[in-house]
Amino acid sequence: MPTATKSRIAPGRLLINNEWADAAKHFDTINPATGEVLTQIAEASKQDVDRAVEAARRAFEDRGGPWRKMSASERGRLIWKLADLVEKNIDELAELETLDNGKPIFESRYIDMPMVADVLRYYAGLATKIHGETVNTNESAFTYTLREPVGVVGMIVPWNFPLLLASWKLGPALACGNTIVIKPAEQTPLTTLRFGELAIETGLPAGVLNIVTGGPEVGRTIVHHPLIDKIAFTGSTLVGKEIMRSAADTLKRVTLELGGKSPNIVCADSDLDGAVRGAINGIFYGKGEVCNAGSRLFIESRVRDEFTEKLVARAKKMQPADPLDPKTRMGAIVSREQMQTVLGYIESGKKEGAKLIVGGNRVSLNGSKGFFIDPTIFGDVKNDMTIAREEIFGPVLSMISFDDVEQAVKQANQNPYGLAAAVWTRDIKKAHQICRQLRAGTVWINTYGLMDAALPFGGYKQSGFGRELGAHAVEHYTELKTVWLNMA
Ligand code: NAD
Repeated sequence: MPTATKSRIAPGRLLINNEWADAAKHFDTINPATGEVLTQIAEASKQDVDRAVEAARRAFEDRGGPWRKMSASERGRLIWKLADLVEKNIDELAELETLDNGKPIFESRYIDMPMVADVLRYYAGLATKIHGETVNTNESAFTYTLREPVGVVGMIVPWNFPLLLASWKLGPALACGNTIVIKPAEQTPLTTLRFGELAIETGLPAGVLNIVTGGPEVGRTIVHHPLIDKIAFTGSTLVGKEIMRSAADTLKRVTLELGGKSPNIVCADSDLDGAVRGAINGIFYGKGEVCNAGSRLFIESRVRDEFTEKLVARAKKMQPADPLDPKTRMGAIVSREQMQTVLGYIESGKKEGAKLIVGGNRVSLNGSKGFFIDPTIFGDVKNDMTIAREEIFGPVLSMISFDDVEQAVKQANQNPYGLAAAVWTRDIKKAHQICRQLRAGTVWINTYGLMDAALPFGGYKQSGFGRELGAHAVEHYTELKTVWLNMA
């Protein structure tokens, strides 16, 4: 289990039935800011996953056991206590996240971790508001519905917001009374493991939360497992498709939060300074490794030059720096592989005729072997170029000019993804009209990237289905049972 000191992080083990277990094999987790090994993490075997799933199954099925006997109010109190412990350990969790992922400590300490606590508290409160309905059908029957937990939920999480995206699943799953087997991404397991320690400290009964670490193979074992009832997945669209196919064999319930290539449309009548700040935040927050990154910027031609000048001036100020420095706003790319992928996309942009306006290079910080790329902006991009079609998942912005806003909206929708979008204009009627035309799960008007535990988040089209956050998430973590009582 990790303990957060910069100099020593303990090896990661598996959490099965509230006990920490080692595995036969291990893998390294790397600090992307230095390229150095942080610690070794247990790699779960198929047998390890079996034991974790069986523990979750037992905790779920034992009707006389502590989890099933617990009232909704008690479950809510437990989740609230978890949020308190997250807050109590917030500096340590934030530091672990930054060391493992490379994101600026400013983001992990003041945005990600506070939202983890917020999300847990939202679902702590919701635990007592999950209910069925009585339905009047006829005089001789008493008919009603019950909302019951789905069972054992397999959770598979990516590396970009490791603990935050885990909390989006853990909160509603626990509130509804499910048990859990979770696999964090192999690049960033440290905060989930630390969260496991906090769960034990909270008093979560054995088997309710099990953590198995490892790569895609561990994920596949979870997806195929006959004793798991539902998969909650966040990750790439490619893997999401594979999961959907594999889950068909056991007809598991599946929710998929997948990739994006979100359009950010800036009209000439907008507050340009605000739109510049929004565009910068939209693409460079989280190093651009953000599913809803505003990676396609549509700019109205008559303000293009003025907008670009302001945008570039701001981008130049965001040079990559030590992620642990509180002043840093651009951290390290999560891994060498991801850095190579991003640099590959930058090359393809140049080859296909886009104009590199700023950035485009790997950056070395004081001779370290870290994985840094400077903020990169391409102009003269066409919507069918590779850098405008595919998710880059890095700090690379593609700017596309338009004269007719209808045309811009059409192009915005001409993409397989539909996770998020934004529009900037002072004309509020126009803003709402555009909002209705955009095929995306979230649309921001005159802002970018805002989130709240109470508001649903998820995708249209190939960005997935199902919604996380908000009260609707309960539908994905419960089954609905209809009951007939004969009163004749
Ligand atoms: P990824 O799909 O490669 O991996 C995600 C997780 O799935 C990891 O834990 C990985 O080990 C596991 N995995 C990989 N292959 C698997 C398989 N065949 N079967 C089961 N599990 C498997 O994604 P990533 O590179 O870690 O994350 C980036 C992607 O996640 C981007 O596409 C991004 O847009 C998406 N994402 C979406 C949201 C959202 O809410 N829509 C949020 C964050 C990230």
